[in-house]
Amino acid sequence: MSAAWEAVLSTLTARLGPNEVNKWIRPLRPVAITSSALRLQAPNRFFIDCIAEHHLAALRESVRAVLGMRQILFEVSTSAQGELFPLKPTTRPRPGRGQPVFGTLLPKHTFANFVVGANNQFAHAAARAVAKQPGDQYNPLFIYGGVGLGKTHLVNATAHLILDNNPDAQIAYLSAETFVNELISALRRDRMEEFKNRFRKLDLLALDDVQFLAGRERTQEEFFHTFNSLHETRRQIILTSDTFPKDIGGLAERLRNRFEWGLIADIQPPDIETRIAILGKKADIEGVLLPHEVAAFLATHIDSNVRELEGSLMRLGAYASLNKAAITVDLAKEVLHNFLTRTQQKVTVEGIQNAICDNFSIRPADLSSKRRTRQVAVPRQLAMYLCRKLLHASFPQIGILFGGRDHSTVIHAIAVTKRRIKEDPAFQATVDRLERVIESSSRWRKEPGSHNQESNRRQTQ
Ligand code: ADP
Ligand code: MG
Repeated sequence: MSAAWEAVLSTLTARLGPNEVNKWIRPLRPVAITSSALRLQAPNRFFIDCIAEHHLAALRESVRAVLGMRQILFEVSTSAQGELFPLKPTTRPRPGRGQPVFGTLLPKHTFANFVVGANNQFAHAAARAVAKQPGDQYNPLFIYGGVGLGKTHLVNATAHLILDNNPDAQIAYLSAETFVNELISALRRDRMEEFKNRFRKLDLLALDDVQFLAGRERTQEEFFHTFNSLHETRRQIILTSDTFPKDIGGLAERLRNRFEWGLIADIQPPDIETRIAILGKKADIEGVLLPHEVAAFLATHIDSNVRELEGSLMRLGAYASLNKAAITVDLAKEVLHNFLTRTQQKVTVEGIQNAICDNFSIRPADLSSKRRTRQVAVPRQLAMYLCRKLLHASFPQIGILFGGRDHSTVIHAIAVTKRRIKEDPAFQATVDRLERVIESSSRWRKEPGSHNQESNRRQTQ
């Protein structure tokens, strides 16, 4: 099983990138398998929710491609009875409350669970106003901000609140990608009338990640009409995007123009206090005992986006509960080295050369030698390529580091390596892996007292 599971992981890596796979998929453990279903154990329920939200389609496809199973079941590893969750979150009900007529809201993405900080105050206030009186003031509400900063959360919260206030409200919540797919499928099945009616009778249309409409003219045209019809009848539209409307390339002018009709609210990355508050809230929700100094440690080191911050907490929580350990700063350092910010990393020439020598079983001296057998030439060229890519070293500098070679030799080596990567997927995989090795082994070297600190300083001068 483990080889098959590794194969699933590697197809997923190609699709989602190594970070997402390491964070969310690798912690899963295949525990049982039948001809139709694969059972996976997750560290906690939260993992399941996150995977369901972000990576379900990809996971399903990979499992099906590699193992042939159509069904995936999840169980939480700590649950004594091995409670099973069929992996169909899109039909998970909101008990006792109204439902969207299209799409599924994420149960935890409510206003109550949303931390307001200076970074999102405006967007939050706008979303609340919209929830109070949909279609009234801010139409459309256009929320933009970088990845993982809370756009989807806010949109879900708005829809939840509208439904709480009026369980009969007709709500569609979907990603622009789903909208595109629905349209394509309606066109194929000759069901355009149905499609139109479905989207033009709504009280709220929330379309997530509209940047995905870029360059899709047919969908844009259809959406344009949907938009007009909803707007004319004062129905609410909420859009999110990772960029400002004018920066979405390949968007028809008339749509762009409409996106700017209502209110545009941005979400910025949270400051450190907000990051700490978000961690505190998530810890409460998940029942993780998170000491303040650990929250502060995480918030200091993970400043890119909230999703990462949340991921770090979940990982830490899962690790602590499985090992029955308390959550401390030391544990956080140990468990989270993958998450720690890149400013902590210092890739060095030495690090690159060591990784190459280890991987290809050659000696450091081979990297500077004049030997030109393939066995040493390929790794040597790759090492030069990595020095260029990861350290931005100049060609002459690289030449000096590799046995005093001429800069034109370096240029040639890098070009050959690039071509090899492009043409040979196995080689590409090796390079990807080595980059990760180099980056992760260089983490933490800047820690005070670390014996590597000196050599780092020398290397980077
Ligand atoms: P986006 O759609 O902007 O990429 P999401 O809305 O999916 O980001 O947010 C990523 C994760 O971070 C979600 O789990 C969300 O609950 C959480 N999150 C983001 N901002 C906040 C916040 N202000 N308070 C609480 N959780 C947040
Ligand atoms: Mg989103």
